[in-house]
Amino acid sequence: MLSHHQRYRIGKDSSLELVLGDITEETTDAIVNAANSYLVGGGGVDGAIHRAAGPQLLAECRKIRDQRGILPPGQAVGTPGCKLKAKFVIHTVGPVWNGGDKNEPQILESCYTHCMEEAERLRCESISFPSVSTGAFGYPVKQAAQIAMRSVAGYLQQLRSVRLVRFVLFDPHTHRIYAEAANKLAEAFPQYKIIRDDAS
Ligand code: ADP
Repeated sequence: MLSHHQRYRIGKDSSLELVLGDITEETTDAIVNAANSYLVGGGGVDGAIHRAAGPQLLAECRKIRDQRGILPPGQAVGTPGCKLKAKFVIHTVGPVWNGGDKNEPQILESCYTHCMEEAERLRCESISFPSVSTGAFGYPVKQAAQIAMRSVAGYLQQLRSVRLVRFVLFDPHTHRIYAEAANKLAEAFPQYKIIRDDAS
């Protein structure tokens, strides 16, 4: 049986983890919200994060929307974590799956890299991601997992402030697909130096 916690060393001195769980419980410096462009909360992980963070999070999101307008797909913006254990919530808007030839892969990749950049800007050392776009937005999990792993693995090749990336997957099926994507990436791209940490 597949364990529900995979840990990898990656790049020069970073860690990549895949866990089955609820992202609202996370203690990483930042957690990522799969938001919508209006930043008004919604269903799925977005609703769960707003419920756990309290009403102040919606007020922070409204402030941002009033200042910069709606957040286009592929972009990311950070707010305080309010009542969460995480210091920050980084809101990103994934692509809605529309067959795959409407730039969905590029937009999804851009979500992951912009979240990492925003985490750097906020001087985070650790960040947790949900499986962006694979719920209500309908992105096929296998393809989304490959993009998520590749984007994050590419980003972690250079030492910067973020040294731990954790994927917090909500159901065993999604968790298994992400673990397979990580193992495949490790095999196919030895230059990424992804090494399974079997102590976990
Ligand atoms: P999107 O609209 O980007 O598809 P969803 O919230 O509908 O976002 O789903 C994205 C993923 O987040 C799905 O795999 C869903 O099961 C998962 N999810 C829902 N609630 C949580 C949670 N509390 N923690 C982590 N993942 C969650």
